[in-house]
Amino acid sequence: MGRRRTAGPRDLAIVIFGASGDLARRKLFPALFRLDCQGQLPPALEIIGVARRRWDDAAFRAHVGAALEEFVSGHDREERARFEARLRFVAGGMDEEAVKAVAARVPGQAVFYLALPPGLFGEAARLLAGAGLHREEGGFRRLVVEKPFGRDLASARHLDAQVRRDWQEAQIYRIDHFLGKEAVQNLLVFRFANAFLEPVWNRDHVDHVQVTVAETLGMEGRARYYDSLGALRDMVQNHLLQLVTLTAMEPPARLDGDDLHDEKVKVLKSVRPVDEDVDGAVVRAQYGPGEVDGRGVPGYRDEEGVRPGSRTETYVALRLLVDNWRWLGVPFYLRTGKRLAASRSEVAIRFKVPPQKFLEPATLGRLEPNWLVLSMKPDECLSLVVQAKQVGLKLTPRTVVLQAAYRAQGDPEVDAYESLLLDVLEGNRTYFLRYDEVDWAWRVLDPVLEYWDRRPDGLASYPAGSEGPAEAGRIFLHRGHVWLPLK
Ligand code: NDP
Repeated sequence: MGRRRTAGPRDLAIVIFGASGDLARRKLFPALFRLDCQGQLPPALEIIGVARRRWDDAAFRAHVGAALEEFVSGHDREERARFEARLRFVAGGMDEEAVKAVAARVPGQAVFYLALPPGLFGEAARLLAGAGLHREEGGFRRLVVEKPFGRDLASARHLDAQVRRDWQEAQIYRIDHFLGKEAVQNLLVFRFANAFLEPVWNRDHVDHVQVTVAETLGMEGRARYYDSLGALRDMVQNHLLQLVTLTAMEPPARLDGDDLHDEKVKVLKSVRPVDEDVDGAVVRAQYGPGEVDGRGVPGYRDEEGVRPGSRTETYVALRLLVDNWRWLGVPFYLRTGKRLAASRSEVAIRFKVPPQKFLEPATLGRLEPNWLVLSMKPDECLSLVVQAKQVGLKLTPRTVVLQAAYRAQGDPEVDAYESLLLDVLEGNRTYFLRYDEVDWAWRVLDPVLEYWDRRPDGLASYPAGSEGPAEAGRIFLHRGHVWLPLK
């Protein structure tokens, strides 16, 4: 997708609340800096950081400079100096005093980015509006909210009511950074820009779908945060369900406006409730000690910051059925976990096996199915697993993988946050979540959370560095379904 430089207003600020935090350091400042280096930021844009540290502008610039050193390679001093000149700092907590200080500094147009602990989102929205910062009298005012959007349906609705009391839906940008990834956006292009796919993209031809987001990483210093959430809330509610909706939805009439969101919501509304057989449809597990990349790593409960005896799941496998005309009877198997054998994110579509009796003697009745795998990690590529003739005298099929990387050597790497921050500046909400997407995603998962609350037992385990718990196969609807290996 081509990017234009914002034909910019001359007075514009991005205010980052939580500017001393991990997200700002690892993602937001590097992304803004790379956009600046590409000439994508309006020259008069100010970046105002807010946090409780007793920093002044110089200390803040030093902090951001160190983050750029660590996370952005190959830039020159002039670029750095230009970027650092945009940076200002306001010291303060999320309270009236700090918001007043911010209000005194922001120009007509502003983006307020809440990179704060989730418990502060509602209060932050209220305080900003209390200072009149939501009013669009001198230009746009936008509010960026990070995940998690609540812990369950009730808290998501409460948060939404708090935020939307003063802010209009069109001003709110709910970030799921997966939607800013090239490879995820490619799902849309690949599905709808290739005519040959549409006739086979349905229950007549698809046997099942596997959606995987597997990580080798463990807690990386974020255990306190993670331990209060777990994999279902942290990953499935947002990233994995978004991948399901993009895979399953009907073509939207247009990409801008509400059409894409409408189609995604239709998929979530069609998901069969999981409440009848939660144990049959969902597996949760926690990693024990093991080995990752050849080094020994502790089990989850021994990670610093994890509560003793924690029953938080670090792995989930889940079966969903989408009861609509296109997908009735086609299981969508989802899995995600920490400390697995490999870092792998993909959507894999398994097609039905063709009824070719004449090949049976050579295959002993086991003709391999076709797979189409859209990979996001470790490589951004498309793979098509097909059968072709084995070279030789006999008519024996063999499996061939046709693979196409969709990043050529030298293509620029665009981080999801770069793309999404630019969208916020340009007022493009296509790759952000509309509230009803969040609500319907919680409606899919709330029965699982309620069931787990009633039944705290039932947590399986897996060694760190493995393919996941042996129980993960329990969710398969048909014999013969197996997880694609991670490694
Ligand atoms: P951190 O804990 O690293 O940072 C939180 C920030 O909020 C710090 O700048 C902290 O600064 C500030 N803060 C904390 N308490 C208060 C308070 N009471 N009043 C005002 N400011 C406060 O969190 P992350 O950066 O990791 O995450 C920020 C948000 O982004 C979270 O909602 C998280 O869920 C979300 N997120 C994070 C991701 C990541 O990769 N880190 C990925 C996806 C979402 P100080 O103490 O100086 O005030």
